[in-house]
Amino acid sequence: MKKLLIIISLIAFSTSAEAGEGIFRKSKTLMGTEMEITVVSADEKTAHKAIDAAFSEIRRIEEMMSTYISESQISKINSAAGKKIVKVDEELIRLIKRAIEYSEMTEGGFNIAVGPLIKLWKVKEGGNIPVSEEIKKAKEIINYKDIAVDEKKSTVFLRTKGMAIDMGGIAKGYASDRAEIVLKKNGIVSGIVAVAGDINAFGKKADGNKWRVGIQHPRKKDAFLGIIELEDEAVSTSGDYERFFIKDGKRYHHIIDTKTGEPAGKCQSVTIVAKEATATDALSTGIFVMGPEKGMELIERLPDVEGIIIDAKGNIAVSSGLKNRIKDK
Ligand code: ADP
Ligand code: MG
Repeated sequence: MKKLLIIISLIAFSTSAEAGEGIFRKSKTLMGTEMEITVVSADEKTAHKAIDAAFSEIRRIEEMMSTYISESQISKINSAAGKKIVKVDEELIRLIKRAIEYSEMTEGGFNIAVGPLIKLWKVKEGGNIPVSEEIKKAKEIINYKDIAVDEKKSTVFLRTKGMAIDMGGIAKGYASDRAEIVLKKNGIVSGIVAVAGDINAFGKKADGNKWRVGIQHPRKKDAFLGIIELEDEAVSTSGDYERFFIKDGKRYHHIIDTKTGEPAGKCQSVTIVAKEATATDALSTGIFVMGPEKGMELIERLPDVEGIIIDAKGNIAVSSGLKNRIKDK
């Protein structure tokens, strides 16, 4: 939540000059987080209608993918694990397939089958430290290769009992992409969608300048690592400072390395810039787990993907294509 507010406060500075000239903004809590949509429009009615339609779209995605909603399609897949093949919407099949691709791409750093470990650590519910036997058991049922997807029949089957898909590392990015599409369908040509830290900017601001997003410093409260200007691009940040609990002086956060079964320890934060938030969301989570060396190698290898990685010691690395784009104000 903090992440969103800081990014948005910066946007507010940068747009305040045009307030009243057709900047419209609304925030809402959905998908367990705060989100905000800002659009440029000549007409207030058009703006609000578009924003409301985009929020409805995000709600639709939440209802399809949340593990906190027992009737969601993901919950149905999970409760049938090891027992039944489940028919779901083609849209969900496509996103699960993409999630599996990101799992491959990040060598399992991003792992859409992380569900059993999320249930053990309960970070969002306040936290729990599992005993090693529990972690060992959960690690036996987190293989994304055991997700059987039949595209033609539009079905999913989790081969092992207890397996569970968790879309938490990709669904907000997808929701951000879908919200942008819905805004455009409703006549908006310029805007910024911030689904917590998964942000899409499209078009330019009313003054002709690009949208600007501040990247939160992982350790300095209310400080930016830098500012990036975006035009028809997405940015996501995954950090260990967002959702965590502290027990006996140690910080436990919400991104789990499925190879160890514990919160990933190689980074403080990872920011990814790319064309779509579905990609930036999944990659920021996956690269956070991979760590700074392998992570930066992957960023440099992927076309149209840039990033900033802050390692566990606080060292900052910026990808070659982003170096000249980071501003300090
Ligand atoms: P945020 O939700 O704060 O934006 P992320 O995009 O990094 O942060 O996603 C973290 C969420 O992704 C977790 O809350 C959990 O639901 C899920 N998750 C945790 N570890 C992994 C992982 N290794 N691979 C995929 N998803 C994960
Ligand atoms: Mg993510």
